[in-house]
Amino acid sequence: MSGFLFEPAAVPGVPVRGETGLYPVGRIFCVGRNYAAHAAEMGAEVDREAPFYFTKTPASLVASGATVPYPSGTANYHHEMELVVALGAPVFRAGVDEARAAVYGYACGLDMTRRDLQDVAKEKRRPWDLGKDFERSAVIAELTPAAAFGTPGPQRIVLSVNGAVRQDAHLSDMIHGVAEVISHLSGYYHLAAGDLIYTGTPAGVGAVSAGDRLEGTIDGLAPVRLTIGPAE
Ligand code: MN
Repeated sequence: MSGFLFEPAAVPGVPVRGETGLYPVGRIFCVGRNYAAHAAEMGAEVDREAPFYFTKTPASLVASGATVPYPSGTANYHHEMELVVALGAPVFRAGVDEARAAVYGYACGLDMTRRDLQDVAKEKRRPWDLGKDFERSAVIAELTPAAAFGTPGPQRIVLSVNGAVRQDAHLSDMIHGVAEVISHLSGYYHLAAGDLIYTGTPAGVGAVSAGDRLEGTIDGLAPVRLTIGPAE
């Protein structure tokens, strides 16, 4: 017996290319407005000085290939296609070289968003949790080890809904690159192996409906897929 009063929630695990063991997820950080064209479509200014963040709880993770119910509390459920970085080493107050070396791997992910609730939060200067951190809102595909992927930059990042392209950019369009984000975030947290960072979405975010099939790709990574089911 563990000594707990009831069985604790399981640690979420993400499959890794070439491994039988799963990558155990600790925390989930997300970067806001990290592509200029997306910031513009949201009517927001870009802060080129420093990235900003919100978080999702590990309970929000869902594996690629799932069918998720159209979530409660929203009438404007949006897709955000993102590169996810998985850390493999502790990082605290690190420079960019140490930050880069701490990357375990990369995956395609979706930062699913209740946009109407996020918009209300922005307008009322409230936290974004209701819009961002809810069950099955952090979709992740199989991880690819960093050495097998290479350096993020020239790879194309694309999201299609029912076969029609909605988001299409390159990772080099990111305002704050992967190593820079990790380095900056490590000034505020003792980052650790198991921490995921969703690195922001390109322009073209939009609403999805029950029955929609989403597919997101980044060159060199396993695609992320999600089907939207009926409202829960
Ligand atoms: Mn996002």
